[in-house]
Amino acid sequence: MKAYRVEQDQRIRLQDFDPAAIGDWDGKKAAGRKKLATLRQELSRLQELLYAENKHKLLIILQATDTGGKDGVIRRVFMGVNPQGVRVANFKVPTPIELAHDYLWRVHRQTPATGEIVIFNRSHYEDVLVVRVHQLAPKTVWKRRYEHINEFERLLADEGTTILKFFLHISRDEQKKRLLSRLDQPDKNWKFNPGDLKDRALWGDYQQAYQDMLNRTSTNWAPWYIVPANRKWYRNLLIAEIIVGTLKSLNMRFPPPAENLEQYRPVLEQE
Ligand code: ADP
Repeated sequence: MKAYRVEQDQRIRLQDFDPAAIGDWDGKKAAGRKKLATLRQELSRLQELLYAENKHKLLIILQATDTGGKDGVIRRVFMGVNPQGVRVANFKVPTPIELAHDYLWRVHRQTPATGEIVIFNRSHYEDVLVVRVHQLAPKTVWKRRYEHINEFERLLADEGTTILKFFLHISRDEQKKRLLSRLDQPDKNWKFNPGDLKDRALWGDYQQAYQDMLNRTSTNWAPWYIVPANRKWYRNLLIAEIIVGTLKSLNMRFPPPAENLEQYRPVLEQE
């Protein structure tokens, strides 16, 4: 897991990370799926604990190239987790009212409250990705944002939010395969967005923007993980492992029960 974490002062080159990597799970796909099932049960138990203890907040940020698998992660990793206490926030093209504010305005109000897990499906990082690549703001504007974002996330962390950021890394070939399968399968046609082809043509610019994002905004308080995402089962396994490990490290406890619980038994039994 450590190999996939970008350390605060590390400078990575995205091309050094193989999107098809499967760690030491070569030839062990079935075992990998089994492990994921176990991790899901653990996640479900830990989420209940987080909710019951009502002390910590967990923010999970997902960023990826189109077809990178954000939706799949949300569906597959959180399958079986009680929907009470988990929320997904989607960040789309900003509305006029959102655009009339600073770019973090719409983000801050979606951050988790105590006892809550919030998954960001896209995030404030769009403001240094799509905004940069499509020149929706000049460089002088988006360049400053890395620092704003680090400080914003530090504020969240200082106030008790645990932050995990996952970049789902797929290859250009894998994207082609996934886009074609959206054309081939009638029940996937709705997912095909002709606009994705425009972004695909800007692949190199996006990779550069992702690389800069990873190098400038991976901090001790809000680290990025580069998740090899060509193989969906491995992608899910890795993310589930990191989330479960992080939740375990919080050493959560159920709140203490009301005093002398046994005194209530006769009340109920004599009913
Ligand atoms: P998804 O692809 O995540 O399933 P959509 O197809 O609705 O969801 O895409 C959301 C779109 O909103 C993306 O093209 C993304 O680049 C865009 N978007 C998100 N945040 C911003 C932003 N701050 N500025 C401009 N565009 C944004």
